[in-house]
Amino acid sequence: MNTPFSLNYFSKSNIHVAFHEINQKLKKKIDFLMEEIDDSTGLAPISTWSLAEDNLRIDENKTLQIAQCNQILKGIRNQIIFVIHLKNVGKFLVNLGDQISPTDIDEGSRVAVDRAKYQIQITLPSKIDPQVSVMAIEEKPFVTYKDIGGCKFQIVNIREVVEYPLLYPKKFTDLGIEAPKGVMLYGPPGTGKTLVARAVANRTDSCFIKVICSELVQKYIGEGARLVRELFQFAKRKTACIIFFDELDAIGGSRFDDGSGGDNEVQRTMLEIVNQLDGFENRGNTKVLMATNRPDTIDPALTRPGRIDRKIEFGLPDLESRAEILKIHSLKMKYDSNLRFEMLARLCPYSTGADLRSICTEAGMFAIRKNKKFVNEKDFLKAINKVINEYARFSATPKYLNYN
Ligand code: ATP
Repeated sequence: MNTPFSLNYFSKSNIHVAFHEINQKLKKKIDFLMEEIDDSTGLAPISTWSLAEDNLRIDENKTLQIAQCNQILKGIRNQIIFVIHLKNVGKFLVNLGDQISPTDIDEGSRVAVDRAKYQIQITLPSKIDPQVSVMAIEEKPFVTYKDIGGCKFQIVNIREVVEYPLLYPKKFTDLGIEAPKGVMLYGPPGTGKTLVARAVANRTDSCFIKVICSELVQKYIGEGARLVRELFQFAKRKTACIIFFDELDAIGGSRFDDGSGGDNEVQRTMLEIVNQLDGFENRGNTKVLMATNRPDTIDPALTRPGRIDRKIEFGLPDLESRAEILKIHSLKMKYDSNLRFEMLARLCPYSTGADLRSICTEAGMFAIRKNKKFVNEKDFLKAINKVINEYARFSATPKYLNYN
């Protein structure tokens, strides 16, 4: 007999309902386990909150913030407290972390603080990067006065202005005079300006910072001036330091009205140097040397006494100096003992120290070409012919001697 509803039919529909219920329950459970975020508050369900887990996560997340330690104070029971400044956040009084001792931190040093209590965790190197492209640093240059041929007058002058104030400051205080702040070295290219500056840094055990002025000219307004400020800050941290601004004409040119308010980024950079020269102590341990081939173009504001007190001219070496320079540069070479340096020097009038150095190298090259073990006079004569006569058209010396 055929019944309208078979047993089979009922049991199938019941199973279908049961499955649906289980499905719903499972879906709820999965949503719960997946920590479905509440749309209205953006929070995970309260049931999933775990304080212990959060603390663990904070501990694991060790990113630190960079701050500046402005002041070190003594608090209650002589406990040391640090005043730190977090940029764009504010100033805080904080303690030290477990890994660091109070002696590691000086006022003004950069530190890293944790995000929870701003406790100091580590000290950081100073923000001024010594490797910034504008400066080349030599802790102690290896050039000595013995490596310089001639330049006697220049060396005496630079010793008076730079060496004595650094080595014997008491002499100046006793007499009641202020040591000059800056010196300008001028003369044609290759006449030994940089060499003398490095030698004086060596003699005074000073750190030598060479700055190529053209690199101080930056794209953005105020960048060049900032670099100059950082440079002087960096120099002040050294026991003794000589800042050598090379190619000063790149920024030190006379000010002019360019129709856009009369001042531009280059001049602003130069004015920052003027500011810095006015700013630090005369008998401080930072000395400023500047070198240029075109002293006639330099702004009088920069060269006035009180800023640049001495101007030392580097001319072309005389006969005796030329022979000396040739001897210095052939010192490490193997040469014929009969070599007449005076005679060779006579053959290269109006040459600079750089030319003479090049003559020595070229003489060596001629000897190598002929597979010789010693350089002889003939090689030197050939080198003189090459450097002095053939290269005469490249020489900038006559042009740069015109400023007088
Ligand atoms: P610039 O104006 O182009 O910067 P400069 O006057 O600073 O030139 P230096 O860099 O001092 O020239 O000299 C260039 C090279 O010439 C030196 O490395 C050195 O080898 C040689 N030289 C120049 N003058 C002398 C000198 N008086 N004694 C020995 N070597 C010298």
